Amino acid sequence: MFDVNKVRNDFPMIRNNKDLIYFDSGATSFKPDRVIKAIMDYYTLYNSNIHRGDYDISISVSKTYDDTRKTIARFINADDPRCIVFSSGSTASLNLVAYNFGRNFLKECDVILTSQVEHASNILPWFKAREEAKANIEYIPLNPDATFDLKKYEECFKDKNIKVVVLPYVSNVMGYIYPIKEITRIAHEHGALVSIDGAQGVPHVKIDVKDLDVDFLSFSSHKMLGPAGAGVLYGKYELLEKMEPMMYGGDSNARFYNDGTIILKNVPEKFESGTPCIEGVLGMNEAAKYLMELGMENVEEYGRYLTRYFIDRLKNLDNVEIYNPESEAGIVAFNLKGIFAQDAASYFNKCGVALRSGNHCAKLLQNVINVTETLRATFNVYNTTEEIDRFVDIIKDTTIEKCVDSIL
Ligand code: PMP
Repeated sequence: MFDVNKVRNDFPMIRNNKDLIYFDSGATSFKPDRVIKAIMDYYTLYNSNIHRGDYDISISVSKTYDDTRKTIARFINADDPRCIVFSSGSTASLNLVAYNFGRNFLKECDVILTSQVEHASNILPWFKAREEAKANIEYIPLNPDATFDLKKYEECFKDKNIKVVVLPYVSNVMGYIYPIKEITRIAHEHGALVSIDGAQGVPHVKIDVKDLDVDFLSFSSHKMLGPAGAGVLYGKYELLEKMEPMMYGGDSNARFYNDGTIILKNVPEKFESGTPCIEGVLGMNEAAKYLMELGMENVEEYGRYLTRYFIDRLKNLDNVEIYNPESEAGIVAFNLKGIFAQDAASYFNKCGVALRSGNHCAKLLQNVINVTETLRATFNVYNTTEEIDRFVDIIKDTTIEKCVDSIL
């Protein structure tokens, strides 16, 4: 296990905000010095475009950019760095997959099998794909606490033409790690492909795409200690080859002719038109290396430890309702009895605690758990049990009057 005080010292946001308790890493994480340095170095030492300059600084930045595919491949245990497509983030990656299903991979009456825990970014693109292909969407029946039942899932395949299974690795509200390896095995047995939203899973859980055998995995740099503006679509090479880009322009084409013919470059370049977020990719490179140095097994274990610690402390309070007592990956959804989530969040803000309230972009989840708004505390490697203790003391003394006063 890593030394959390040493880790905290790597993060300027922690060093510069001694009194802040930041429990909103699920929205975006803090960044360590080395990520910020990579961005600063780019802008101060070798600011240039990639793949376009025949001079040293451009050649150097192009090499680091391209080498980031190898880092990310190692990070998720992909064999082939060409399977790593850079995007602007999870939303862009998830859209690219759904767009291709809508246009190329689905036929009329085919079924997209998904769930009601999805973040908007992993369901709205599939609504569009359904529309485009005249396909159908079906929802896997989850347990009332949104945990996954493999038996009910397998039953969904009976007499249905399911072509793709769309799920998150970790729900951004409930924090469960879904059994993706089993889910994928069952999908493949029935001839369906699997697209996983890794936005909340990849930063917290050791991922091995070879072992999981998923067909697509999308994630964002900014939730895994890297900068915003960059992200990844991992896809199996033979599938990426069959896909078309959503955008056309510079750097993704080998040739084009005045009759309109476009000869695209190979995977992954064909998906990366225009100047990308170069500094984002360089920062993501350092973030992935930092996480690998901490050890993703340790990151996962520490996340589980903080989650358990917080839930166990909350369980002793009469004024709290917890919605995901079995959460594993640094996400706890709860409410203070009789207090509107946003009022409580505003009061906690006054007490120096930053956390999120609302539906967390998972607007169908209320159909499963029967709650529309929750407070959501999310942890990362720089959070501590001392912060949790301080927060629990605040929660103990929270009343509706204090919350209402804080918003007046
Ligand atoms: N999926 C999940 C589960 C998320 O939590 C998020 C971000 N809140 C996204 C997708 C979208 O990620 P991004 O905004 O980085 O594109």
